[in-house]
Amino acid sequence: MLLPLLAALAAAAAAWPGCEPARGPAGGCHRPSASDSAMCVDLQLQACSDAAYNQTAFPSPLEHRSREALEASSEYVLLSVLHHLLEGQCNPDLRLLGCAVLAPRCEGGRVRRPCRQVCERLREACQPAFDAIDMAWPYFLDCGRYFGGEEEGCHDPLEKLRGALDAEEAPPSGPPPTFLHFTHHSYAQMVRVLRRTAARCAHIASTYSIGRSFDGRELLVIEFSSRPGQHELMEPEVKLIGNIHGNEVAGREMLIYLAQYLCSEYLLGSPRIQRLLNSTRIHLLPSMNPDGYEVAAAEGAGYNGWTSGRQNAQNLDLNRNFPDLTSEFYRLISSRGARTDHLAIPQHYWWGKVAPETKAIMKWMRTTPFVLSASLHGGDLVVSYPFDFSQHPHEEKMFSPTPDEKMFKLLARAYADVHPMMMDRSENRCGGNFLKTGSIINGADWYSFTGGMSDFNYLHSNCFEITVELGCVKFPPEEALYPLWQHNKEPLLTFVEMAHRGIKGMVVDKFGKPVRNARVSVKGIRHDVTAAPGGDYWRLLPPGSHIVIAQAPGYSKVIKKVTIPARMKRAGRVDFILQPLPAGPKKFLQGPRRSSPGLQDPLEGAGPSGEPLGARRQPENSGGKPWWWAYFTSLSQHKPRWLLKY
Ligand SMILES: [Zn+2]
Repeated sequence: MLLPLLAALAAAAAAWPGCEPARGPAGGCHRPSASDSAMCVDLQLQACSDAAYNQTAFPSPLEHRSREALEASSEYVLLSVLHHLLEGQCNPDLRLLGCAVLAPRCEGGRVRRPCRQVCERLREACQPAFDAIDMAWPYFLDCGRYFGGEEEGCHDPLEKLRGALDAEEAPPSGPPPTFLHFTHHSYAQMVRVLRRTAARCAHIASTYSIGRSFDGRELLVIEFSSRPGQHELMEPEVKLIGNIHGNEVAGREMLIYLAQYLCSEYLLGSPRIQRLLNSTRIHLLPSMNPDGYEVAAAEGAGYNGWTSGRQNAQNLDLNRNFPDLTSEFYRLISSRGARTDHLAIPQHYWWGKVAPETKAIMKWMRTTPFVLSASLHGGDLVVSYPFDFSQHPHEEKMFSPTPDEKMFKLLARAYADVHPMMMDRSENRCGGNFLKTGSIINGADWYSFTGGMSDFNYLHSNCFEITVELGCVKFPPEEALYPLWQHNKEPLLTFVEMAHRGIKGMVVDKFGKPVRNARVSVKGIRHDVTAAPGGDYWRLLPPGSHIVIAQAPGYSKVIKKVTIPARMKRAGRVDFILQPLPAGPKKFLQGPRRSSPGLQDPLEGAGPSGEPLGARRQPENSGGKPWWWAYFTSLSQHKPRWLLKY
């Protein structure tokens, strides 16, 4: 196989008579470059079987002289396991991009390079996924080196993926659409609208998947930010989640409309939306339970019962499937000095059934420093806020506030107070519930339950999440969608803007470097927030005077008094510079309670569908190589050091 190939290559080279380069441009003789004369052979690589072309040529741009040599390379191995490594993110796009370099398209005796633009777009979108696993960007995906420009006839290795989306519609150009279609969206339609919206607003939006549902549907997120794909220092991150209950579909539609609205308004130059997107990173997950939606949609509006499609495909209620940290909170709160924030997920939680959708949300929360969140439901008309689980386990209805009761009430009010139906006291809405409380309620005071997403957000992370019940009907008829949007557009925007209430800033050492494990406490509120890896923090706070303390293990505390005026709409900036404690017996502060060393944390593993990589990520393997390193080194004597960041 190899010999005839080499012979053929030699023959091809010989077919070009020698030519003196010195003859100059006028001479009309040009030396064949590798891409001009190639012998196309069938592309027989498993990892590239879905490529948009079926012929390649050797040697490859990475100097592999045969298919066998290529298959034995670390580069190829990386492509084969990329899906598992990145847990579905950026795939298959990134794998196909890699294939286009390793085994480039060959056509009519000519090798074509993949387009640089495609590489650059993917790099921007996918770099965070590599960062999350501490892996360097693969050298062979260097957009400047292995990719070409349009002028040299590059090809788009992702054209097949795009085909399905773009075929029906002209590429996103021209004036932005100013109207939305107020219809229900099937899964395919939802994906198409989100992708198309991201393409239309490519400089401020992108889509990504946080994982898959039990039946394998991508949990697709569209994000809006001045730099999509990246966390920016001191820019708060907000998430809005719809359709956690598959048959509560209004939230799903509201978020699909909101995505299109944000894109259009930005392009049309709306100062409010431009300001919002330039200062906030907003993530919309219209459907957290796409499998349940299918069940509900099969019955359709007007026929859907109270519960068909509520659960995921495993029959799990996703809003009961999160770890119950609230019980742990109630246990700890009575002991002085015990930390009651950033509680660890108890080991026994993983012994039960954990839905892939739940797991995807938990991982998402771990990789993104969310400040604010809302989960959109249907079946009533009210905004509820944590805790959802009653402080007395046997009380089905019992007011059970968090230490941030004041702030949560403000957040709930921010939504309800600008919602015409929630504010309408004359209308007989949803049986007139919650009229007296102004359409907001403490969750446990309504009805108590464990395993909810909002309690988990508050007790495990920095994120404050509220629950919005958008209306009485869980699966509204299509004609109700437009009024629903009219009622909820302003509340959604006002709520997202609330991410800018309180204070934010940096916690750094005297050299200006971010302090790891820094936490920010507020006197009188027993709930600390932690700084993000870049040293930035956000603390949502109601107006008034607060004593704020920043501290970290090995540093002395810094205390500041801040006053937040009643009408202040931008977070006040409060930075902290921590001084190291003098040497000697150190008084260590307790860091955030993550899983203790030695215990397995399945969130760190390779994902719900088995562990193809053989090795699990070890928690805090200090100074060692990342968890995936052993896998690559076990396969070959060539250690792919280029995968290491340091
Ligand atoms: Zn619900």
